[in-house]
Amino acid sequence: MSFRYRMFVARIGIVALAFFSVWLSRPASGCSWSELKTHYVTIVYANRKYLSHFEEKISPGNYTPDSTEITLDSIVQRVETLLDMFPGDLKFTMVLLPNSKDVQRVYASKYGRSPDYIAFYSPCDNTVFLSVEDVRVGVLAHELSHVVVDKYFRISPPYKIHELLAQYVETHFDEVSETVPETH
Ligand SMILES: [Zn+2]
Repeated sequence: MSFRYRMFVARIGIVALAFFSVWLSRPASGCSWSELKTHYVTIVYANRKYLSHFEEKISPGNYTPDSTEITLDSIVQRVETLLDMFPGDLKFTMVLLPNSKDVQRVYASKYGRSPDYIAFYSPCDNTVFLSVEDVRVGVLAHELSHVVVDKYFRISPPYKIHELLAQYVETHFDEVSETVPETH
């Protein structure tokens, strides 16, 4: 087998693996993805009901169908304020999955193990995966902290420091002033 042929086969293998990874990340229902873009986040979901459920969870009491962008972006800004970290050009993706089993399935496809997670941030994919069934504002703030910390440092801190910062934000999120800067 020639070197060129082996390289060709290797490239085909890499492309096949990439497609397999994306396929594993799809929802079990096989529905097509839809997107909603906010200033910071591209929200990806397979069914409008997951987005609606997510919207209700993150804005309890004052939910309106058009408030998602404002609410989610203000949560991102509140996380930045708590951490006192304002990375420039903060953009990332958030995949809404129906429940924790789907989150764990995606995690297993990426990392080969299935911890009991209801949400996680994948730096390689620049993506937060979360269970709509389990999400609450504190959980969301925790995952957003991982995104902000990851973007803020040129070299990402060790896992334990990451986790300490995310847990700090989750614990103190409700103590943050409602006043947040418009721009950074
Ligand atoms: Zn964490």
